[in-house]
Amino acid sequence: MPLKDIDKRFWKRVKELAKSNMKDTTYDYLIAPAQLISVTGNNAKVLVDSNFHKDYWRRQQDLVTTASLEIYGDIINYQLLSKDELNEKDFKELNKLSNPSSSSTNSDDEDSAPFPFKSNLLKKYTFDNFIEGDQNRMTLAAAITITDDPGNLYNPLFIFGGAGLGKTHLLNAIGNEFHKKRPRARIIYTSSEGFVTDYVNASRKKQMENFVAKYRNLDLLLLDDVQFFSDKEGTKNEFFSTFNELHEKGAQIVLTSDRPPNELDNLEERLVSRFSWGLTTNITMPDFETRMAILMNKAEKSGLVFPDETISYIAGQINSNVRELEGALNQVEFAAKMEKVAVVDTTFAEKALDTMRSSNYRQHKSNLTITKIKDEVARYYHLPVSDLTGPKRLKEIAFARQVAMYLIRELLGTSLPAIGNEFGKRDHTTVIYAVRVITDKMKSDNDTQRDIDNLKRKLDN
Ligand code: ADP
Ligand code: MG
Repeated sequence: MPLKDIDKRFWKRVKELAKSNMKDTTYDYLIAPAQLISVTGNNAKVLVDSNFHKDYWRRQQDLVTTASLEIYGDIINYQLLSKDELNEKDFKELNKLSNPSSSSTNSDDEDSAPFPFKSNLLKKYTFDNFIEGDQNRMTLAAAITITDDPGNLYNPLFIFGGAGLGKTHLLNAIGNEFHKKRPRARIIYTSSEGFVTDYVNASRKKQMENFVAKYRNLDLLLLDDVQFFSDKEGTKNEFFSTFNELHEKGAQIVLTSDRPPNELDNLEERLVSRFSWGLTTNITMPDFETRMAILMNKAEKSGLVFPDETISYIAGQINSNVRELEGALNQVEFAAKMEKVAVVDTTFAEKALDTMRSSNYRQHKSNLTITKIKDEVARYYHLPVSDLTGPKRLKEIAFARQVAMYLIRELLGTSLPAIGNEFGKRDHTTVIYAVRVITDKMKSDNDTQRDIDNLKRKLDN
């Protein structure tokens, strides 16, 4: 549904209010690019550039409320979509919604390609911007090979690895390269959930022929995140048949998953065994050097100067996954642009990352409270909460108390005196000591490390 005039006025008002409320740089970077997609009833959909923008917009309820009361005389809630999360298809549909006139002039080479459907490929992911390292070399080599010699050596190619390590990137890079080498090839990139949705819709609308025509006449099927494959019988049978037919025809199939085929518990043996017919490769977290290379590649596009020392500092800080590595760089870049710093030194990066860590944690865990942490810690160590907050000095109790203080500080960022108060008006120096003890113990003692990990996981739910 295109936007009505009143919706446009509302959006203009949101932006005006924002502009008068914040620094120009913040406005230009965070507010101006956001698009209003639709307003249905009391719900608005807003499209923002990235998950980072989304976090920022989440805190703009006051702004939106003020504008909506002024314009509609009612409160409008807003749902945020980030471009990071959308695939190309969703994105185009959204754009059509908000700019009905421009969509027809949108010339995309894919529209002119002789496809009866959209491939859904994410064009930004290519082999060129995928950095090679020891941890992905074999996978990358296999990925490139299949674009030269599809359906032959490695069919299917099964890529597994943890979240944020580049599976989706590689899958799309394969598709994009394939398309470049064979412009007429029929390619589909989809998540396993997308496949399931397509199937369910087709069977509901009695359009199974379309579905079969779409998926069984492919040259390349790129199926992301097969661990999310639904265990509904119909879907699985359909996928099984699709797989067999494509494989027999010599069409190339590439699958990704967060775990190896034999650990896909929700899939049947017959499928799992087929997944292992070709080549199964694993990607893991890039080593330090590769992380530096990834960061340098991104930093070059930022227009800022990142000395090697700063890059190496960030690469050393983040060893969970590449998505977070990129997130950290974005954060530092953003802070530098806000503060108009052209050369980003290590001290600056350190400060920017610290701010991010504490505010991210607080934001995501907004329903986490001091009481919840105390309760969880008490339960974990089989103690009554009153022991944690009381005066007892028994070793076990004192330790549990220190753990609770540590977690409150770490997860909620509560001030030291306030934490002291929560534990029977203890002095803030006691809290400092507790935080230090636990931090040290986590390094030297596996049990403490495990306790903290377990507790964080429990508190995460
Ligand atoms: P996954 O699908 O495994 O969860 P993604 O493919 O979405 O991970 O990767 C997360 C982010 O990290 C993406 O922005 C991707 O471009 C980037 N990335 C991952 N690995 C690399 C790499 N080796 N070189 C460059 N960018 C990478
Ligand atoms: Mg992915």
